[in-house]
Amino acid sequence: MQKQKNYVWLDRFRLIAALLVIAIHTSPLASFSGEADFFLTRVLARIAVPFFLMVTGFFFPSDPDKLRKSLKKLCLLYGGSILLYLPLGLYAGHYRALYLTDALRMLLFDGSFYHLWYFPAAITGIILVFALKRVLRLRWVCVISVVLYVIGLFGDSYFGLAEKLPPVKAAYEGMFRLFSYTRNGIFMAPVFLVLGILIRKYSLKALRLSALRYALCLLVSFACMTAEAFTLHNLRLQRHDSMYVFLLPVMVSLFLLLLSLPETAAPRRTTAVPIAGAATPRRTAVASAAMWIYLLHPAFIVLVRAAAKLLHLTGLLVDNSLLHYLAVSILSVAAGLALSFLQTRFFSKRWMAQRLAKTASPTSRAWIELDLDALRQNVVLLQKCVPDGCRLMPAVKANAYGHGAIPIARELNRLGIDCFCVACAAEGIELRRAGITGEILILGYTHPTEFSLLCRYRLTQSVTDYAYAEKMQQSGIRLHVHIAVDTGMHRLGIRCEDIEHIAAVYQMKKLLVDGIFTHLSACDSAAPDCHAFTESQILAFRQVVKALSQEGISCKGIHLLSSYGMLNYPGAAESYVRPGIALYGLFSTEADTRNLHEICPLEPVLSLKARVASVRTLYAGESVGYGLAFTADHDMQIAVLSIGYADGLPRELSCGNGSVLIGGQRAPIVGRICMDQTLIDVSQLSDVKQGDTAVLIGVSGSEQITAGELAGKCHTIANELLSRLGSRLERIM
Ligand SMILES: *Cc1c(COP(=O)(O)O)cnc(C)c1O
Repeated sequence: MQKQKNYVWLDRFRLIAALLVIAIHTSPLASFSGEADFFLTRVLARIAVPFFLMVTGFFFPSDPDKLRKSLKKLCLLYGGSILLYLPLGLYAGHYRALYLTDALRMLLFDGSFYHLWYFPAAITGIILVFALKRVLRLRWVCVISVVLYVIGLFGDSYFGLAEKLPPVKAAYEGMFRLFSYTRNGIFMAPVFLVLGILIRKYSLKALRLSALRYALCLLVSFACMTAEAFTLHNLRLQRHDSMYVFLLPVMVSLFLLLLSLPETAAPRRTTAVPIAGAATPRRTAVASAAMWIYLLHPAFIVLVRAAAKLLHLTGLLVDNSLLHYLAVSILSVAAGLALSFLQTRFFSKRWMAQRLAKTASPTSRAWIELDLDALRQNVVLLQKCVPDGCRLMPAVKANAYGHGAIPIARELNRLGIDCFCVACAAEGIELRRAGITGEILILGYTHPTEFSLLCRYRLTQSVTDYAYAEKMQQSGIRLHVHIAVDTGMHRLGIRCEDIEHIAAVYQMKKLLVDGIFTHLSACDSAAPDCHAFTESQILAFRQVVKALSQEGISCKGIHLLSSYGMLNYPGAAESYVRPGIALYGLFSTEADTRNLHEICPLEPVLSLKARVASVRTLYAGESVGYGLAFTADHDMQIAVLSIGYADGLPRELSCGNGSVLIGGQRAPIVGRICMDQTLIDVSQLSDVKQGDTAVLIGVSGSEQITAGELAGKCHTIANELLSRLGSRLERIM
């Protein structure tokens, strides 16, 4: 179970960072000492912008839609601030004699007003990092961003050195025609975004050191940075002073320190989901106050100067740099807090949602509603079933059992889950294209002509038998694999007796064996023979791992439990577990779901609903639907639902076998279910109208129809019923 983290200190530090930015622009100590001012504004305050970038990286959404949304927001904010500062810029003469190239340079790199460079830098950096992350492993994205940073360094505080080599100097001068500084979205932003991403990825589960140690690291690296800055300054090497070598360790230790500080007060906002990985870009009141301060402080600088002039207080409020700084800061902070209060009060997501919820409802003919809170809760419950250190590798095959693989995997990614299993390459590719990160294991067979796709989309392939392993090896493509071991299901995998061949796969040069697994074929049943058989499978698998270790092969990535295995044999959990059906809040049969509810109170994630297309009278003696399958013996009211077997509603539910819920009341299905329509008898229901919603799976009033119940009526299991739900259904959250 991951420990819950709270980000209060990250939020609090945003305010400090905003105050440091004001310092950069007002030089509070300038009237006292040049050195002190240099230290404050050119050394200490230089952590502010990298900090904002790291926070952005830390909450970097892996979901392209979310990313697009945050980018759009940033662009809007940038556009708004350009307009806001247009009059000031005009007044100051910034835009005089402006050529198109200058305008572009301003817009894309420098910002149209002096502090606004942050926006194009953040936007460019985010796009760059995201694009790199799509095509490269994080490791390489890291390397590239560090290289860019080094190039940036030599155009910034180390420019004096770069200048000494004429060709290098010429190259930099060329670059400076495109942008005025290298502290921009290309050279500076990526490395800090990536650092944020890395910290989120590696340090959250366990911060290795104590807060005190991080504070010590921070102190030492900051001392080094100060020495670096003063040395460069005294040697007059600096062209600009935003980038230092030691800024990187300073930022990392600062960030880790903030994450490891004990949280005080501040009530938890996310009580429902105590999972560390649940990071989505979020805006707390403090965070938005910091943003407003950043945005507005230049306006207050102008305001304070103008007011001082008017009131004849220039000597006090402008010439005394410290008082000037304080005046600007107080005004900015007050405005920031006030605006953020208004914003959270009137424009927060929740507020909007409350307003919209009253009017918005799906317009489709038939749809699936996903309860992501239920999914989150199931993840938490399942994580509790297995020992610490064992990770969930949810089965999102078959379109996540009909739920919709992309929305489900996205939410799981958000919850910090970073390994999945799917049935085939196409499913894995679909997830990758949707921006799903982490390991994706293909449980089934992939044709050798598609091996290159596995590589391109970073998919992990199961070794389904030894001959297949040889084919993979011969393909010459480096492939990540998990070895499937057949311990008695006799479906896929190398036989467990065949240690020699299993060991041989580990020796294959082209295969990177990341895991080894088996599948239990009878772990759902408590019958004595099934129980004994399952125990024998578990034992056989353990012996394989042991035999391999005797041959000097230490197996990693060991897994064998699916949903039933997790609940019935929790002691057998190893590195991963592969829950499928349980993740979606149920078990294969209604009886199991009810029995296991006590151990693990899962919540169903999916509801299936359809629209009432028409309500009509069926007079006595008339038939409804195909094949004269139902004839009315009295006058009745029939409602036509726009859902049919093509949507995955089993035809076996026809003719009264199944029913639906409307307004908390049950209405039986009459006649045969058609491809796109289903007929129900609503004679006993009051007031059913065209456009009403019928619930086929889910809750309506005090009534509920479960997938297990429907499956039972169709002599199958919920897994089959759900996984057959059609792609034509809209999926809404
Ligand atoms: C489908 C599948 C799972 C998930 O099974 P559930 O019973 O739905 O939890 C796990 N492992 C393998 C190999 C599978 O094929």
